[in-house]
Amino acid sequence: MKPIAIILFGSPGSGKGTQSKYLVEWLRIPQISTGDMLREHIRAGDPIGLAIQERMRAGSLVSDDLVNQLVFERIRQPDARNGFILDGYPRTPTQAEEMMRLLTNVGAGEVVIHLVVDYNVIISRMSGRRVCPKCGTLYNSVSRPPKVEGVCDLDGTPLVIRDDDREQVVRERLVQYERQTQPLLEFFRAVNDRLIEVDASGDRPEVVFGRIKSELKNLVRK
Ligand code: ADP
Repeated sequence: MKPIAIILFGSPGSGKGTQSKYLVEWLRIPQISTGDMLREHIRAGDPIGLAIQERMRAGSLVSDDLVNQLVFERIRQPDARNGFILDGYPRTPTQAEEMMRLLTNVGAGEVVIHLVVDYNVIISRMSGRRVCPKCGTLYNSVSRPPKVEGVCDLDGTPLVIRDDDREQVVRERLVQYERQTQPLLEFFRAVNDRLIEVDASGDRPEVVFGRIKSELKNLVRK
C-alpha cells in the first residue's frame, strides 16, 4: 500500500497534540513536528540551531528552504516508510507546494485533517485556566477547579492567570493562526478532495478521534 501522509491542522487549544498521539498509536506511523525538529537543533547548538534561534525566540517563521530540507530528509527515514503525520508543516504556500513535490517523490498520498473549533469555546476554555505561581499546578474553573476558589490546593497560594492564557493573547494567537492557515486550506481544497474537516469543539477527545477514524476509513475505501 501507498504510504499515507497525514497533514494535521488545528488552532492553539484545538486538541491537535492529543489527536496526533491517537493517530500515532492507531496507524503506527511517526509524528513529524517541524517545531520539535527545530528545537532539537537549538538544543544541540549546531550550525542550524545557531542560525535559527533568534527567529524562533521571536516567534517568527524560519526559512522555507530550511524546513523543506528538514522534512525532505526526515520522511526518507526507515520509520516513515509506511507513512507519517506532519505537524506544523506546511506553514506557508511555498512550503505547501514543495511538500506536494516531496510527497510525489516518496510516493505518498496525502490526507489533510482540519480540526475545526469554535473560537469562543477555546477562549473560554483557555481563559478559565489558572496556575499556582509557587508550585506550577494548573487549574481550570470548568474541568479542574481548586477546592477553594482562587487558591492552590497544595500550598494555599493565590492563583494567577498565565500571561499567554490572557484573553487578548489567546485572541491574537488565533487571529495569527487563521491568517496563516486559511490560504493553506484553500490550497488543499483546490488540489484535492482529501480534506477532512472534523468538528473538535464540544466533545471529549475520544469522540473527536472516532470521527477522524471513520472519515479516514471512508477515504481509504474510495
Ligand atoms: P506552536 O505550536 O507554538 O506554534 P511549533 O512547535 O509548531 O509551535 O513551532 C514553533 C516555532 O518553530 C515557530 O514559531 C517557528 O519559529 C518555527 N517553525 C515550526 N514549524 C515551522 C515551519 N513549517 N515553517 C517555519 N517555521 C516553523
